[in-house]
Amino acid sequence: MTRAIWIVGLIGLAAMILFLATDTDDDKDEPAPPTPLPLPERKPGFTVENLQCPVCEGYGYIMEEARTGARRRICQLCAGKGGKVLRIPPGNVRCPNCQGFGRTRTAKRYVVCLRCGGRGYVKQPFQPGE
Ligand SMILES: [Zn+2]
Ligand SMILES: [Zn+2]
Repeated sequence: MTRAIWIVGLIGLAAMILFLATDTDDDKDEPAPPTPLPLPERKPGFTVENLQCPVCEGYGYIMEEARTGARRRICQLCAGKGGKVLRIPPGNVRCPNCQGFGRTRTAKRYVVCLRCGGRGYVKQPFQPGE
């Protein structure tokens, strides 16, 4: 009887030591990897371009002639913002038709660029020699 109690006690002690050992191991392991990739994994290869509006040259408005003299008018291409931040996904390039603004000028107004569908970027053209 006493022997059985001893064995149970020893097993319990061993389990406890093992538990403590693994516990301290966990504490030791946790700070070791510095976790270097938290966020930038989501959008790999995106190219960000800051585009200045070519119509208003970044001012957001243009001057136009009116009967009472020159007056300001909100730029229609950039909607008064003066420019645009274009995020180009990997494998794409800035649209050569609209320079990335997604709209082109017709005789009277701006319309959605047909080449890029207003996104401002198109699929990268074929690269020779690669
Ligand atoms: Zn503009
Ligand atoms: Zn375009």
